[in-house]
Amino acid sequence: MHIQKPAESADEPPSSCSPGELKTFKSAGRGFWHDVPDSSWNDWHWQLKHRITTVEQLQRLMPTLTPEEYAGTALANQKLSLAITPYFFNLIDPADELCPIRAQVIPRIEETSTAPWEMSDPCGEDSHSPVPGLVHRYPDRVLFLVTDRCAAYCRYCTRSRLVSNASGYDFHPEFDHQIEYVRTHPEIRDVLLSGGDPLLFSDDKLRHLLSRLRAIPHVEFLRIGTRIPVFLPQRITPELCATLREFHPLFISIHSNHPRELTTEVREALGRLADAGIPLGNQSVLLRHVNDDAVIMKAHVQKLLQCRVKPYYIYQCDLIAGSAHLRTSVKQGLDIMEQLRGHTSGYAVPQYVIDAPGGGGKVPINPGYVLNHNSDRVLIRNYEGKLFEYPEAQDGTPLHAPMRSVEEPELA
Ligand SMILES: *Cc1c(COP(=O)(O)O)cnc(C)c1O
Ligand code: SF4
Repeated sequence: MHIQKPAESADEPPSSCSPGELKTFKSAGRGFWHDVPDSSWNDWHWQLKHRITTVEQLQRLMPTLTPEEYAGTALANQKLSLAITPYFFNLIDPADELCPIRAQVIPRIEETSTAPWEMSDPCGEDSHSPVPGLVHRYPDRVLFLVTDRCAAYCRYCTRSRLVSNASGYDFHPEFDHQIEYVRTHPEIRDVLLSGGDPLLFSDDKLRHLLSRLRAIPHVEFLRIGTRIPVFLPQRITPELCATLREFHPLFISIHSNHPRELTTEVREALGRLADAGIPLGNQSVLLRHVNDDAVIMKAHVQKLLQCRVKPYYIYQCDLIAGSAHLRTSVKQGLDIMEQLRGHTSGYAVPQYVIDAPGGGGKVPINPGYVLNHNSDRVLIRNYEGKLFEYPEAQDGTPLHAPMRSVEEPELA
């Protein structure tokens, strides 16, 4: 059995970020929009209306656009639209070709090449969809897709087949049908609203939808998956928070990938949600040159705790068509996990998962801490690489082999 060396704590961040920048909270600033009145800048409708959506706008704002980005952006509207809020755009460092914000939202020509193992629906959602816009993969919970629109579009989006509606996927969820399915399936105790981004809806529309779900007695738990607190913190108004708190228990999962995304604006928006009693979790996607580095990931999860957000999942990037240039190895993901567990607060450590290609759901991936396990003892190692033995309790239960033999894989 290979025993990993104790993780060294790498203290040097990659050259494009200074250690101070990773740890401090700063405002995104106004950038090109310094003349815009506060009342407009802080208005989420203004932000949406002034999104950057064309290659001409992008080039005007960012003359350092590379040929790969220019070509990717010119083609983006056939696949996954370009959209960036002015607020989020200000986090891009135009002088840095490897800027971790830039890579997430500015298209590149590599998006147009598809490797043979890449898919348009990598998690097999459409095949687990009993009614349009509803994915029922797990026994007791459903994913309820409410819209195909987001405040900005992530180039690696696992639902790029439907979000932004650029590729002609016919996405018209009918809430009546989705809600009827939940109502007639008493085993569903957890409904996760996602999309697209549910918080793009008006407060009234959200209240209407959440009330209908809350009226179903077996729905115990509601949650919303959203990147709006990060792309458009202006949307998190006191009125929205007052609306959401009517529907407790309601949790929110945000999506942030890099410490630079956690600005003072975002921290305040998250504080308003937390003050409304909403438990907050974060989902990150492991992305090449963005956060595939233990120093960055550690700074990020610690900053999330300061924003009252529990890091929930780190996803291995799905095999979405055109994402090869953004993917990192599973080995690198495991190395990062190795450098988090034990080295920082347990609350800061997310679960690393692979959403099984083709539709097996989320599978936890962990560094090997159990080195040997038989009916007498468990041999474990800690975060420093030290070995320990725990005597197995003698309850007479035979030990089952935890894994199917790899010689006879069962492929779905
Ligand atoms: C991620 C996901 C869920 C929620 O999974 P949890 O592990 O409970 O957070 C539910 N349904 C689908 C289809 C999902 O992809
Ligand atoms: S916010 Fe979520 S759904 Fe929208 S583009 Fe990004 S990953 Fe996709």
